[in-house]
Amino acid sequence: MPTSGTLYIISAPSGAGKSSLVKALTDSESQVRVSVSHTTRAMRPGEIDGLHYHFVDHGQFSVMLERSEFLEHAQVFDNYYGTSQRWLEQTLAEGYDLILEIDWQGAQQVRKLMPQAKSIFILPPTKEALQHRLNQRGQDSAEVIERRMRDAVNEMSHYVEFDYLVINDDFAHALSDLKAIFQANRLLQSVQQQRHAGLLSELLV
Ligand code: 5GP
Repeated sequence: MPTSGTLYIISAPSGAGKSSLVKALTDSESQVRVSVSHTTRAMRPGEIDGLHYHFVDHGQFSVMLERSEFLEHAQVFDNYYGTSQRWLEQTLAEGYDLILEIDWQGAQQVRKLMPQAKSIFILPPTKEALQHRLNQRGQDSAEVIERRMRDAVNEMSHYVEFDYLVINDDFAHALSDLKAIFQANRLLQSVQQQRHAGLLSELLV
């Protein structure tokens, strides 16, 4: 049986560069997978159903909720988001490390249910940089950007609940920080003990 993977929660305010960092990490590390959430929000230009999100309507989301199909779910801005439990359990059992890109509310729920999960919070280098990145996206109206800026401050106030903090000033540096976290967790004695059970029993006779 493969060694069970590690569950990672990664949160950040909108515009901190979380999705680009997670994509670069998974592009270079084949044993890391990202959970694709379900959401009721409208698809943005360039987004693909099933790849970025499973886009569902409120009715479909409610049915999944009633059937207890979500490990966690939350309302973020005016939309609902949720993590499907079945896919998560299967992927971890297959030995993959799994990332949940979720907000602080979801992070709190997952921490309670799976206390072994590691959590990482990504911060922008300055408030101005965050504002600049939100403006540059060009995908949302000024009103939405202003509201996201306010929500970002609220999101960032939860950084204390996370195990690791990564500041996304220089992209390459932040990526290397993220990789270091994943690598360090693979070297934990509890994880190595499972992976190298054969070697350990041979060494100790
Ligand atoms: P966006 O709509 O910009 O893709 O995401 C908005 C916020 O929703 C982000 O903070 C993102 O991490 C969060 N989010 C995305 N998927 C989930 C999910 O499945 N559960 C929770 N709790 N938050 C999510």
